[in-house]
Amino acid sequence: MSEQTGAPVVVIGAGPVGLAAAAHLAERGVDFAVLESGPSVAAAIEEWRHVKLFSPWRYDIDSAARRLLEQSGWIEPDLAKLPTGGDLIDSYLAPLTKTPELNDRIRYDAQVVAVTRVGFDRIRTTGRDAAPFLIRLADGSELLASAVIDAAGTWRKPNVLGGSGIPARGELEAEGIAHALPDVLGVDRDRFAGRRTAVVGAGHSAATTLLDLGQLADEVPGTEIVWVVRGTDQARTYGGGEADELPARGALGSRLKKLVQSGHVELVSSFRIEAIGRTGGRVQLTSGEREVVADTVINSTGFRPDHDMVSELRLDLDPILGSTRALAPLIDPNKHSCGTVPPHGVDELAHPEPGYYAIGAKSYGRAPTFLLATGYEQARSVVAALAGDWEAARDVQLDLPETGVCSSNLAYGGTADEAGGCCGPAPRAVEVSAPAGRGLATGISGGLLTVIEDETTKSSGCCG
Ligand SMILES: Cc1cc2nc3c(=O)[nH]c(=O)nc-3n(C[C@H](O)[C@H](O)[C@H](O)COP(=O)(O)OP(=O)(O)OC[C@H]3O[C@@H](n4cnc5c(N)ncnc54)[C@H](O)[C@@H]3O)c2cc1C
Repeated sequence: MSEQTGAPVVVIGAGPVGLAAAAHLAERGVDFAVLESGPSVAAAIEEWRHVKLFSPWRYDIDSAARRLLEQSGWIEPDLAKLPTGGDLIDSYLAPLTKTPELNDRIRYDAQVVAVTRVGFDRIRTTGRDAAPFLIRLADGSELLASAVIDAAGTWRKPNVLGGSGIPARGELEAEGIAHALPDVLGVDRDRFAGRRTAVVGAGHSAATTLLDLGQLADEVPGTEIVWVVRGTDQARTYGGGEADELPARGALGSRLKKLVQSGHVELVSSFRIEAIGRTGGRVQLTSGEREVVADTVINSTGFRPDHDMVSELRLDLDPILGSTRALAPLIDPNKHSCGTVPPHGVDELAHPEPGYYAIGAKSYGRAPTFLLATGYEQARSVVAALAGDWEAARDVQLDLPETGVCSSNLAYGGTADEAGGCCGPAPRAVEVSAPAGRGLATGISGGLLTVIEDETTKSSGCCG
C-alpha cells in the first residue's frame, strides 16, 4: 500500500462485503471511503429484496460490523431466522451505515468506471508501487486511494443467454428478456400472470423464480412456465434435499423437483441457445431445429465479474474462473469436492498489483458458490494486512455450515454444468418423453422431460 500518499483506502461497493471491509477499516483506525454506484446501501440486494436467503442470520453478520452496531444500541435479529434480502438491508446494512464510524464515509451515486495508478499504465514498472491509485467515477470526477478493496459484486454483469458463452445471435437487441429474480409474486406480477415465461438456468435463482411462477400459476389461470437448461441432468439443481445442512437450500431443490414432477413446468433440457428473435410478438429461443417461445425470458444463468474497470492494473486471473489463480482451486465448481471452502484471505486474494484486492462475490469470478461468511473473512484478512497486522491477516478462519452433500449444489448461477460442483450420492436422472400434462411440451419440438428417480447412484467426476 502506498502509505506515503496520505490518500484513504477506497472500498468499491456498499454491499454486505464492502461494508464489512469498511467496519474493519474503521475498527483499525485506517482512513477510508466507500463508493457505491446505487442511490442507497446494497443497491444490488435492493433488486432482490423479496428473496429469502438460505443462510440464517448467524452466517450473515460480519464480526466488526456487529461490534460497531452493538455500540449503537442495535437490536440483533433472531440468529436462527432466515432473512430476506430486504431484511438484510433494513435490519443490518442500513443501521450499519448510520453508525458514527461509517456514517459520513459512504458516497452514493458514485459509480467507479476506471482504476489505475497515477502516471502509470499497466506496462510501466519503475516506481509503480509508490504511486497512489487513481479512481475515476461515471460523473468524470476522480479521487486518489492508497489501496483499493473492490467489493463490486457481480450482479450488474449477468452471464449471456447464448449457450457458448458469447451472446446468442440477436441477444443484444432482443426485447422481452428479464434480469434474474424478478418479483414474480409482487411488483412484477402483471408481467407474468396469465402469460408464458421461460426461465433459463439451473441455479438457485432459476429455482426460486420457477417456484414463484408455480405459485402464480396456481393463482392465475393461463400462466405457463418453461424451464430451459443446457445440460441433461437436473440432479445438481435439485440439490441435497434433507441432507443439506442449510435446510432452506435443500428444501428449495426438493420443492422444485416436486413442481417439475407435478407437470406444472415444461422442462426443456439439452437446449443450447444459439439465436434469439421474435415471433408473433413473443420471444423465440432457437437451438438447432428446436424452439422455445415465450412472452418473457428470465435470464437466470448466473453472473460474471467486471474486470474492465481495473484493466490497467496488473491482475493475475485464473483463466477459467476469473478469480485469482491461488483462489481458483479452492472454489472451482467443476471439480470442487464436498464440504467447506477452505479458509482463505489476503494471500489467496493478492494480485501482482500491490494494494488492489477484489473481495466478496467478485472475488469468486464465475464460480457461483460464494457465501457471505467467506466474504467477511476475506474482508477481515485483507484489512488486517493493509493495517500491517500480518499475523492476524494470515490467521484465517471460516465457520461455514457443513453440508451433507455439497456446499456448491444449487448456487446462484447456472454455470459450471450448470449449477456448481457435485459429489456424493445423487438422484439418477433419466430422460423420457414428456407425458401429456398441464402446459407440457407445448410448441416445443423434441422437448423431453427429465424425471428424477428415487434410486441413487454415485455421481462421477467429483470428490476425487
Ligand atoms: C438472490 C441471492 C441470494 C443469496 N443468498 C445467499 C445466502 O443465503 N447466503 C449467502 O451466504 N450468500 C447468498 N448469496 C450470495 C452473496 O452472499 C450475495 O450475492 C451478496 O450480495 C454478495 O455481497 P457483495 O458485497 O460481495 O456484493 P453485492 O451485494 O453485489 O454488492 C456490491 C455493491 O457494489 C455496487 N457496485 C457495483 N459496481 C460498482 C461500481 N462500478 N462502482 C461502485 N459501486 C458498485 C453495487 O451496487 C452493490 O451495492 C445470495 C445471492 C443472491 C443473488
